Amino acid sequence: MAGDAFLQSIEHNFKNAVSCLKSGDHADGISDDLAEKIMVANSTYVVRFGVRLRGKLFTFTGYRSVHSEHFEPVKGGIRYAPDVNQQEVEALAALMSYKCALVEVPFGGSKGGLIIDPREWSESELERITRRFTQELAKRDLIHPSQNVPAPDVGTGEREMAWMADEYKRLNPAELNAWACVTGKPVTKGGIAGRTEATGRGVEYALRAFFDHPEDVKRTGMIPGLPGKRVIVQGLGNVGYHAALFLSTENGALITHVLERDGAVVDETGIDIDDLKQHVTKTGSVKNYKGYVESGMEMLEADADILIPAAMELVITEENADRIKTPLIIEAANGPVSAEADRILRDRGVVIIPDLYANAGGVTVSYFEWIKNLSRIRFGRMQRRAEENRLAALIQGVEQLTGKPFPDNLIDEAVRGSAEIDLVRSGLEDTMRSTYAVISDVWNNNPEATDMRTAAMMVAVRRIATSYQSLGI
Ligand code: NAD
Repeated sequence: MAGDAFLQSIEHNFKNAVSCLKSGDHADGISDDLAEKIMVANSTYVVRFGVRLRGKLFTFTGYRSVHSEHFEPVKGGIRYAPDVNQQEVEALAALMSYKCALVEVPFGGSKGGLIIDPREWSESELERITRRFTQELAKRDLIHPSQNVPAPDVGTGEREMAWMADEYKRLNPAELNAWACVTGKPVTKGGIAGRTEATGRGVEYALRAFFDHPEDVKRTGMIPGLPGKRVIVQGLGNVGYHAALFLSTENGALITHVLERDGAVVDETGIDIDDLKQHVTKTGSVKNYKGYVESGMEMLEADADILIPAAMELVITEENADRIKTPLIIEAANGPVSAEADRILRDRGVVIIPDLYANAGGVTVSYFEWIKNLSRIRFGRMQRRAEENRLAALIQGVEQLTGKPFPDNLIDEAVRGSAEIDLVRSGLEDTMRSTYAVISDVWNNNPEATDMRTAAMMVAVRRIATSYQSLGI
């Protein structure tokens, strides 16, 4: 089963990091019993609930797994897909623990899922199912502002998060922090500016950080610089769309291949991502778009510089790893490369920017949203005008001292105070940049950190272990 292989892959990566932490300069490492405790999921709740729809009772199966509670609340998305299963949810929950530790977001790891194909249900049916699922989770504090805070994942978005928050609030009308029970909500319902784009934006910042480290770029054999790089994107959903959009419109990269579930679009001169997305939204498919070709997973093997799997797990396995041509892969999806494929690609010199770092933008901005909900004030609301007044005074001073007017083309940018979106982007960029620097440092300075995933996992696992050890565990 795919879920089993995914969980084994995550556990393999964990064990590898633990053994690296025990060798070389890291003899301060982590005991076997503590490693075992960290690796396994603390609990997984399986719920089967009925919803009367279309004149009959349908039974749905949902999961919420809590991997590590070294920080609470625990955090992680809720996935709606037909192939959701316990092992997959546990693998994703573990990944959330490592991701949060790596980007220093004070949450434990969790993940949820519902076995459903959302495309088979109408909006009002999905709302009833989601509200019913929320009731089941709320009974066991598996949705709770201080215990367990879900977010969007595959098949869910701000609409589902708004339903969940509303249902939680209905069940807990006196709970002051009720809106902090989920993140990824619409801005009009307690969300934060920039959350929808956050994971894709984080992928962009991660790539920029990579290209700002010439010694790391050198390992790929590519010439420096993101502009002009040819990119394959798999999955034009939330993460893939935003990553592709920002890379092409703001960084000069060329999105030459987009692979979706019903075929691919190829254009060596660069695909207009917004236009393609509009076509997909209108028609439900990439079919009939200029450059459309019938294709499946073989499109991952096309000739390009950067491969961005942004759809699902285990799309690069021992079966196709040998044929991947891009010298750089950035894992926008969770777990797209199996542990075996990882070894093959590493031996071939392919550099992989790992999921626990590459797609951490979502949880980082979710953290900001959660803080916003607890503080009940929009970021920048108190400071913005004061900042603008101070900057205006500074500019007046510069003009008085120099006897020259401040350049017109810079004045707006110079005096503009920070709005919420500016602060969110600043916090996200800083997180992605500073985390990259930590990973790169471990990768380049520790012989046992043979690749970026191992380096990132070493940082994350050491932090979680330290957190347990400081409790005397
Ligand atoms: P989504 O549902 O918005 O998009 C997934 C896209 O992949 C869809 O367009 C779908 O049609 C496409 N797809 C599905 N199967 C495919 C296949 N076989 N070949 C090509 N395309 C296929 O989901 P998302 O939120 O963008 O999540 C994508 C990945 O990113 C998942 O692995 C998820 O766990 C991960 N992720 C998401 C977030 C987030 O904030 N949404 C955060 C971190 C990680």
